[in-house]
Amino acid sequence: MLGQFELQIPDSMEEVLELLAGGDAPAILAGGTNLLVDMRAGSCRPERVLSLARLPRLRWIEERDHRIAIGAGTTVSDLLHDPRIAAHGAALVEAARLFAGQMVRNTATVAGNIAYGSPAADLVPPLMALDAEITLMSKSDTRTVPLAEFYTGYRQTVCRPDELVAGISWPKPGPGSAGLFYKLARRKGDAITVTGVAVALSVANGRMTDLRIALGAVAPTVMRARKAEAILEGKAPSDARFDRAGAAAAAECSPIDDIRASADYRRHTVHALVRRLAGEAASRAA
Ligand SMILES: Cc1cc2nc3c(=O)[nH]c(=O)nc-3n(C[C@H](O)[C@H](O)[C@H](O)COP(=O)(O)OP(=O)(O)OC[C@H]3O[C@@H](n4cnc5c(N)ncnc54)[C@H](O)[C@@H]3O)c2cc1C
Repeated sequence: MLGQFELQIPDSMEEVLELLAGGDAPAILAGGTNLLVDMRAGSCRPERVLSLARLPRLRWIEERDHRIAIGAGTTVSDLLHDPRIAAHGAALVEAARLFAGQMVRNTATVAGNIAYGSPAADLVPPLMALDAEITLMSKSDTRTVPLAEFYTGYRQTVCRPDELVAGISWPKPGPGSAGLFYKLARRKGDAITVTGVAVALSVANGRMTDLRIALGAVAPTVMRARKAEAILEGKAPSDARFDRAGAAAAAECSPIDDIRASADYRRHTVHALVRRLAGEAASRAA
Protein backbone atom coordinates (compact mmCIF):
# COMPACT_ATOMS: atom_id res chain seq x y z
CA MET A 1 0.00 0.00 0.00
CA LEU A 2 1.30 3.40 -0.96
CA GLY A 3 -0.94 5.38 1.41
CA GLN A 4 -2.71 8.63 0.59
CA PHE A 5 -0.89 11.50 -1.10
CA GLU A 6 -1.50 14.32 -3.52
CA LEU A 7 0.17 13.70 -6.93
CA GLN A 8 1.34 16.72 -8.91
CA ILE A 9 2.52 16.26 -12.51
CA PRO A 10 3.61 19.65 -13.85
CA ASP A 11 4.24 20.26 -17.58
CA SER A 12 7.06 22.75 -17.32
CA MET A 13 10.22 23.38 -15.32
CA GLU A 14 8.81 26.76 -14.22
CA GLU A 15 5.84 24.98 -12.65
CA VAL A 16 8.13 22.40 -10.97
CA LEU A 17 10.22 25.15 -9.38
CA GLU A 18 7.09 27.05 -8.33
CA LEU A 19 5.68 23.94 -6.62
CA LEU A 20 9.01 23.24 -4.88
CA ALA A 21 9.19 26.83 -3.66
CA GLY A 22 5.75 26.76 -2.08
CA GLY A 23 6.85 25.66 1.43
CA ASP A 24 6.16 22.13 2.70
CA ALA A 25 8.29 20.58 -0.05
CA PRO A 26 6.88 17.59 -1.93
CA ALA A 27 8.85 14.38 -2.59
CA ILE A 28 10.28 14.44 -6.11
CA LEU A 29 9.39 11.36 -8.17
CA ALA A 30 11.76 10.49 -11.04
CA GLY A 31 12.02 6.78 -11.95
CA GLY A 32 10.47 5.82 -8.59
CA THR A 33 12.80 2.86 -8.07
CA ASN A 34 13.79 4.15 -4.63
CA LEU A 35 10.89 6.42 -3.71
CA LEU A 36 8.01 4.08 -4.54
CA VAL A 37 9.78 1.15 -2.85
CA ASP A 38 10.17 3.24 0.33
CA MET A 39 6.56 4.46 0.16
CA ARG A 40 5.32 0.91 -0.26
CA ALA A 41 7.45 -0.19 2.72
CA GLY A 42 6.06 2.70 4.78
CA SER A 43 9.49 4.21 5.48
CA CYS A 44 8.57 7.35 3.54
CA ARG A 45 5.07 8.88 3.73
CA PRO A 46 5.00 12.13 1.71
CA GLU A 47 1.78 14.15 1.66
CA ARG A 48 2.65 15.50 -1.79
CA VAL A 49 4.53 13.80 -4.63
CA LEU A 50 5.84 15.87 -7.52
CA SER A 51 6.39 13.75 -10.62
CA LEU A 52 8.90 14.77 -13.30
CA ALA A 53 7.23 12.43 -15.82
CA ARG A 54 6.04 15.22 -18.11
CA LEU A 55 9.45 16.87 -18.38
CA PRO A 56 11.14 14.88 -21.17
CA ARG A 57 13.49 17.82 -21.72
CA LEU A 58 15.38 16.72 -18.58
CA ARG A 59 16.60 13.64 -20.47
CA TRP A 60 19.63 14.69 -22.48
CA ILE A 61 23.38 14.12 -22.89
CA GLU A 62 25.62 16.85 -24.30
CA GLU A 63 29.29 17.28 -25.17
CA ARG A 64 30.36 20.86 -24.41
CA ASP A 65 33.95 21.80 -25.28
CA HIS A 66 35.84 20.19 -22.40
CA ARG A 67 32.88 18.72 -20.49
CA ILE A 68 30.18 16.06 -20.71
CA ALA A 69 26.82 17.11 -19.26
CA ILE A 70 23.69 15.06 -18.65
CA GLY A 71 20.18 16.10 -17.67
CA ALA A 72 18.51 14.91 -14.48
CA GLY A 73 16.15 12.63 -16.39
CA THR A 74 18.96 10.61 -18.01
CA THR A 75 18.42 6.96 -17.16
CA VAL A 76 20.98 4.31 -16.30
CA SER A 77 20.20 2.62 -19.64
CA ASP A 78 20.88 5.88 -21.49
CA LEU A 79 24.44 5.78 -20.10
CA LEU A 80 24.96 2.38 -21.65
CA HIS A 81 23.94 3.44 -25.14
CA ASP A 82 25.73 6.73 -25.63
CA PRO A 83 29.18 6.76 -27.30
CA ARG A 84 30.09 10.07 -25.56
CA ILE A 85 29.68 8.45 -22.14
CA ALA A 86 31.69 5.43 -23.31
CA ALA A 87 34.47 7.72 -24.55
CA HIS A 88 34.60 10.06 -21.54
CA GLY A 89 33.24 8.03 -18.62
CA ALA A 90 34.26 4.38 -18.98
CA ALA A 91 34.01 3.72 -15.23
CA LEU A 92 30.48 5.14 -15.21
CA VAL A 93 29.50 2.76 -18.02
CA GLU A 94 30.91 -0.12 -15.98
CA ALA A 95 28.76 0.94 -13.00
CA ALA A 96 25.69 1.21 -15.26
CA ARG A 97 26.38 -2.23 -16.73
CA LEU A 98 26.34 -3.82 -13.26
CA PHE A 99 23.34 -1.80 -12.08
CA ALA A 100 20.17 -3.76 -11.19
CA GLY A 101 18.32 -5.52 -14.04
CA GLN A 102 17.21 -4.04 -17.33
CA MET A 103 13.72 -2.99 -16.19
CA VAL A 104 15.14 -0.95 -13.32
CA ARG A 105 17.93 0.48 -15.50
CA ASN A 106 15.33 1.68 -18.01
CA THR A 107 13.55 3.88 -15.43
CA ALA A 108 16.17 4.61 -12.75
CA THR A 109 17.72 8.05 -13.26
CA VAL A 110 21.24 9.23 -12.56
CA ALA A 111 19.88 12.18 -10.56
CA GLY A 112 17.72 9.86 -8.43
CA ASN A 113 20.77 7.69 -7.67
CA ILE A 114 22.70 10.78 -6.54
CA ALA A 115 19.86 12.55 -4.70
CA TYR A 116 18.71 9.51 -2.71
CA GLY A 117 22.05 9.69 -0.89
CA SER A 118 22.68 6.00 -0.33
CA PRO A 119 26.34 5.27 0.49
CA ALA A 120 25.95 2.22 -1.78
CA ALA A 121 24.71 4.20 -4.83
CA ASP A 122 26.70 2.69 -7.68
CA LEU A 123 26.89 5.68 -10.03
CA VAL A 124 28.31 8.00 -7.38
CA PRO A 125 31.87 6.60 -6.96
CA PRO A 126 32.68 6.76 -10.70
CA LEU A 127 31.10 10.22 -10.97
CA MET A 128 33.09 11.42 -7.94
CA ALA A 129 36.27 10.00 -9.46
CA LEU A 130 35.41 11.90 -12.66
CA ASP A 131 35.24 15.10 -10.55
CA ALA A 132 31.57 15.62 -11.40
CA GLU A 133 29.56 18.70 -10.42
CA ILE A 134 25.85 18.85 -9.68
CA THR A 135 23.65 21.68 -10.92
CA LEU A 136 20.94 22.53 -8.38
CA MET A 137 18.06 24.69 -9.54
CA SER A 138 15.41 26.55 -7.55
CA LYS A 139 12.95 29.32 -8.31
CA SER A 140 15.42 31.85 -6.91
CA ASP A 141 18.79 30.59 -8.19
CA THR A 142 20.91 27.99 -9.93
CA ARG A 143 24.13 26.80 -8.29
CA THR A 144 26.80 24.23 -8.95
CA VAL A 145 28.21 21.98 -6.23
CA PRO A 146 31.11 19.50 -6.57
CA LEU A 147 29.74 15.98 -6.05
CA ALA A 148 32.54 15.45 -3.49
CA GLU A 149 30.86 18.19 -1.36
CA PHE A 150 27.25 17.18 -2.02
CA TYR A 151 26.83 14.75 0.90
CA THR A 152 26.78 15.94 4.49
CA GLY A 153 25.90 12.67 6.27
CA TYR A 154 23.99 9.42 5.85
CA ARG A 155 21.27 10.19 3.26
CA GLN A 156 21.85 13.91 3.86
CA THR A 157 22.80 16.30 1.08
CA VAL A 158 23.21 20.04 0.53
CA CYS A 159 20.15 19.98 -1.80
CA ARG A 160 17.53 22.31 -0.24
CA PRO A 161 13.85 21.31 -0.18
CA ASP A 162 13.09 24.00 -2.80
CA GLU A 163 15.84 22.71 -5.13
CA LEU A 164 15.98 20.12 -7.85
CA VAL A 165 19.02 18.30 -9.25
CA ALA A 166 18.82 19.63 -12.80
CA GLY A 167 22.00 18.18 -14.27
CA ILE A 168 25.40 16.63 -13.75
CA SER A 169 28.61 17.37 -15.64
CA TRP A 170 32.27 16.40 -15.55
CA PRO A 171 35.47 17.38 -17.36
CA LYS A 172 36.47 15.08 -20.21
CA PRO A 173 39.45 13.04 -19.03
CA GLY A 174 42.56 14.09 -20.97
CA PRO A 175 44.97 11.89 -22.91
CA GLY A 176 47.07 9.60 -20.73
CA SER A 177 44.27 9.10 -18.20
CA ALA A 178 42.24 6.08 -17.13
CA GLY A 179 39.26 5.41 -14.88
CA LEU A 180 38.00 2.13 -13.42
CA PHE A 181 35.12 1.02 -11.19
CA TYR A 182 34.66 -2.26 -9.35
CA LYS A 183 31.45 -3.34 -7.66
CA LEU A 184 31.94 -6.07 -5.11
CA ALA A 185 28.59 -7.69 -4.33
CA ARG A 186 27.18 -11.13 -3.73
CA ARG A 187 26.06 -11.21 -7.37
CA LYS A 188 27.14 -9.06 -10.28
CA GLY A 189 23.67 -7.65 -11.04
CA ASP A 190 20.66 -6.82 -8.89
CA ALA A 191 22.57 -6.90 -5.60
CA ILE A 192 23.43 -4.14 -3.15
CA THR A 193 27.11 -3.26 -3.25
CA VAL A 194 29.31 -4.52 -0.42
CA THR A 195 32.29 -2.40 -1.49
CA GLY A 196 32.49 -0.06 -4.48
CA VAL A 197 35.77 1.49 -5.61
CA ALA A 198 36.38 3.95 -8.43
CA VAL A 199 39.82 5.21 -9.39
CA ALA A 200 40.76 7.91 -11.91
CA LEU A 201 44.27 9.11 -12.68
CA SER A 202 46.60 10.38 -15.39
CA VAL A 203 50.21 9.46 -16.07
CA ALA A 204 52.57 12.11 -17.45
CA ASN A 205 56.36 11.81 -17.66
CA GLY A 206 56.22 8.58 -15.67
CA ARG A 207 54.35 10.21 -12.73
CA MET A 208 50.75 9.82 -11.62
CA THR A 209 48.63 12.97 -11.37
CA ASP A 210 44.98 14.01 -10.91
CA LEU A 211 44.37 11.12 -8.54
CA ARG A 212 40.80 10.63 -7.45
CA ILE A 213 39.74 7.56 -5.49
CA ALA A 214 36.09 7.22 -4.42
CA LEU A 215 34.74 4.56 -2.07
CA GLY A 216 31.14 3.34 -1.87
CA ALA A 217 29.31 1.43 0.89
CA VAL A 218 32.14 1.79 3.43
CA ALA A 219 31.17 5.06 5.18
CA PRO A 220 27.93 7.01 5.87
CA THR A 221 28.35 8.62 2.42
CA VAL A 222 30.30 7.83 -0.72
CA MET A 223 33.70 9.38 0.07
CA ARG A 224 36.99 10.41 -1.50
CA ALA A 225 40.00 8.52 -0.12
CA ARG A 226 42.17 11.65 0.11
CA LYS A 227 45.03 10.09 2.12
CA ALA A 228 45.35 7.28 -0.41
CA GLU A 229 45.28 9.82 -3.25
CA ALA A 230 48.09 11.84 -1.61
CA ILE A 231 50.32 8.74 -1.42
CA LEU A 232 50.16 8.34 -5.20
CA GLU A 233 49.90 11.95 -6.43
CA GLY A 234 53.03 13.06 -8.29
CA LYS A 235 54.77 9.70 -7.77
CA ALA A 236 55.96 6.99 -10.15
CA PRO A 237 53.75 3.87 -10.22
CA SER A 238 55.05 1.06 -8.02
CA ASP A 239 53.47 -2.00 -6.38
CA ALA A 240 54.66 -0.88 -2.94
CA ARG A 241 52.97 2.53 -3.38
CA PHE A 242 49.72 0.96 -4.60
CA ASP A 243 49.76 -1.28 -1.53
CA ARG A 244 50.35 1.70 0.81
CA ALA A 245 47.53 3.60 -0.90
CA GLY A 246 45.22 0.60 -0.41
CA ALA A 247 46.14 0.43 3.28
CA ALA A 248 45.55 4.18 3.68
CA ALA A 249 42.11 3.94 2.02
CA ALA A 250 41.17 1.03 4.30
CA ALA A 251 42.23 3.11 7.34
CA GLU A 252 40.33 6.27 6.33
CA CYS A 253 36.95 4.64 5.55
CA SER A 254 34.49 3.78 8.33
CA PRO A 255 32.48 0.71 7.32
CA ILE A 256 29.83 -1.00 9.42
CA ASP A 257 28.90 -4.63 9.99
CA ASP A 258 25.61 -5.50 8.27
CA ILE A 259 23.89 -8.51 6.77
CA ARG A 260 25.99 -8.29 3.62
CA ALA A 261 29.48 -8.14 5.15
CA SER A 262 31.49 -7.31 8.24
CA ALA A 263 33.35 -4.02 8.63
CA ASP A 264 36.65 -5.97 8.70
CA TYR A 265 35.86 -7.66 5.42
CA ARG A 266 34.94 -4.32 3.84
CA ARG A 267 38.24 -2.75 4.97
CA HIS A 268 40.14 -5.73 3.61
CA THR A 269 38.39 -5.41 0.24
CA VAL A 270 38.97 -1.63 0.09
CA HIS A 271 42.70 -2.29 0.58
CA ALA A 272 42.79 -4.96 -2.13
CA LEU A 273 40.60 -3.09 -4.63
CA VAL A 274 42.35 0.27 -4.31
CA ARG A 275 45.74 -1.46 -4.76
CA ARG A 276 44.49 -3.40 -7.80
CA LEU A 277 42.48 -0.67 -9.55
CA ALA A 278 45.15 2.01 -9.04
CA GLY A 279 47.77 -0.35 -10.50
CA GLU A 280 45.56 -1.24 -13.47
CA ALA A 281 44.58 2.39 -14.11
CA ALA A 282 48.25 3.46 -14.03
CA SER A 283 49.18 0.74 -16.55
CA ARG A 284 46.35 1.72 -18.87
CA ALA A 285 47.07 5.44 -18.58
CA ALA A 286 50.77 4.89 -19.33
C1 LIG B 1 15.32 -4.01 -7.89
C2 LIG B 1 16.20 -2.80 -7.64
C3 LIG B 1 17.54 -2.90 -7.93
C4 LIG B 1 18.39 -1.79 -7.71
N1 LIG B 1 19.72 -1.95 -8.00
C5 LIG B 1 20.55 -0.89 -7.80
C6 LIG B 1 21.94 -1.02 -8.11
O1 LIG B 1 22.43 -2.04 -8.60
N2 LIG B 1 22.73 0.06 -7.83
C7 LIG B 1 22.24 1.21 -7.30
O2 LIG B 1 23.01 2.15 -7.08
N3 LIG B 1 20.92 1.36 -7.02
C8 LIG B 1 20.07 0.34 -7.26
N4 LIG B 1 18.73 0.48 -6.97
C9 LIG B 1 18.23 1.75 -6.40
C10 LIG B 1 17.63 2.72 -7.44
O3 LIG B 1 17.26 2.04 -8.63
C11 LIG B 1 18.61 3.84 -7.83
O4 LIG B 1 19.07 4.55 -6.72
C12 LIG B 1 18.01 4.80 -8.86
O5 LIG B 1 19.05 5.44 -9.58
C13 LIG B 1 17.08 5.86 -8.28
O6 LIG B 1 16.63 6.68 -9.34
P1 LIG B 1 15.08 6.96 -9.60
O7 LIG B 1 14.99 7.81 -10.82
O8 LIG B 1 14.29 5.71 -9.61
O9 LIG B 1 14.77 7.82 -8.29
P2 LIG B 1 13.42 7.99 -7.44
O10 LIG B 1 13.10 6.73 -6.73
O11 LIG B 1 12.36 8.62 -8.27
O12 LIG B 1 13.96 9.05 -6.40
C14 LIG B 1 15.00 8.72 -5.49
C15 LIG B 1 15.25 9.89 -4.54
O13 LIG B 1 15.84 10.98 -5.23
C16 LIG B 1 15.00 12.14 -5.20
N5 LIG B 1 15.09 12.70 -6.55
C17 LIG B 1 14.88 12.08 -7.73
N6 LIG B 1 15.15 12.89 -8.76
C18 LIG B 1 15.53 14.08 -8.20
C19 LIG B 1 15.96 15.32 -8.74
N7 LIG B 1 16.04 15.53 -10.07
N8 LIG B 1 16.29 16.31 -7.88
C20 LIG B 1 16.22 16.13 -6.54
N9 LIG B 1 15.83 14.97 -5.97
C21 LIG B 1 15.50 13.95 -6.80
C22 LIG B 1 13.61 11.61 -4.86
O14 LIG B 1 12.82 12.57 -4.22
C23 LIG B 1 13.96 10.45 -3.93
O15 LIG B 1 14.27 10.91 -2.65
C24 LIG B 1 17.86 -0.59 -7.19
C25 LIG B 1 16.48 -0.49 -6.92
C26 LIG B 1 15.66 -1.58 -7.14
C27 LIG B 1 14.18 -1.46 -6.85
